[in-house]
Amino acid sequence: MSDSPDLSAFIAGLPKAELHVHHVGSASPHVVAELAARHPESKVPKDPEALADYFTFTDFRNFIELYLTVVDLIRDAEDVRLLTYGVAQDMARQRIRYAELTVTPYSSVRRGIPDRAFLEAIEDARKAAERDLGVVLRWSFDIPGEAGLEAAEETARIATEMPPEGLVSFGLGGPEKGVPRALFKPYFDRAIATGLHSVPHAGETTGPETVWDALTSLRAERLGHGTSAAADPELMRHLAERQIPLEVCPTSNIATRAVRTLEEHPLPELVRAGVPVTVNSDDPPMFGTDLNTEYGIAARLLGLDAAGVAELARNAVRFSFLDAPGAARLLGEIDTYLADWQARRP
Ligand SMILES: [Zn+2]
Repeated sequence: MSDSPDLSAFIAGLPKAELHVHHVGSASPHVVAELAARHPESKVPKDPEALADYFTFTDFRNFIELYLTVVDLIRDAEDVRLLTYGVAQDMARQRIRYAELTVTPYSSVRRGIPDRAFLEAIEDARKAAERDLGVVLRWSFDIPGEAGLEAAEETARIATEMPPEGLVSFGLGGPEKGVPRALFKPYFDRAIATGLHSVPHAGETTGPETVWDALTSLRAERLGHGTSAAADPELMRHLAERQIPLEVCPTSNIATRAVRTLEEHPLPELVRAGVPVTVNSDDPPMFGTDLNTEYGIAARLLGLDAAGVAELARNAVRFSFLDAPGAARLLGEIDTYLADWQARRP
């Protein structure tokens, strides 16, 4: 049912919000090729087709290495602006109307882009995307966990001392193994004290104890992935009771080998337990996916029809940090789209 062309068409036109998607990881081969052409000495292929091969990786560690070679292409403010606007163009094509984009300022600042120039570049692109494409962007600044406490300090400094207008949340990404969540508590405390929301990654490549750590130490309001919560009934009960949502990214979990096959993906189990879920794409071009594909996969795993898919889209808006008028407007767009669709298919 869910793989029907009909439902795919419904998903493609459905106004959507995305809550878990990375800035650099969203660079489509076209954008990466443009960046690589600006920096000819880079070893990243310049041809979009060769790039697709380049992005085939074997495990999570290998993925991080490839990811960092693309990070290395972001060398000046113009690269940042080009990347950000290119990502918004790809979102517009998928009818994504709102996205909280995870940005890692530390990676760029460490490579010599001055913090202020970096922030101006993303803000310029954000305003242009809203004006020209109707895509509303907000930022989540995340600590690249593998870079340790220096990265945490720098990310917290930028997020709390010079927050750009679009900044709404504070996160923690990178590998989980050997990177205890609790280590980052002081930085999350500072970010939360300035009004930022807490959205760490947890329970993607490690067990439910990491999710508990993210909840208790980092006061997580949403969890990046959190899929290993399915192994802990008490944790699922906690998430359901407190209505703490998981940002689920099915294809990413397969690509990084966090979950073996889609058939074994815990999404249905989480939903059955009443855990709120949203559907997301993580690093879409690198994983050969996009948000519409992820909605199709979720629909298949959960056996959803158009109304069920629309409810998933509403979840993403409800659990977003979009202001109330913006959220009401987007929920209205979803309702109207569904009603029109149903009226045409009695
Ligand atoms: Zn992620």
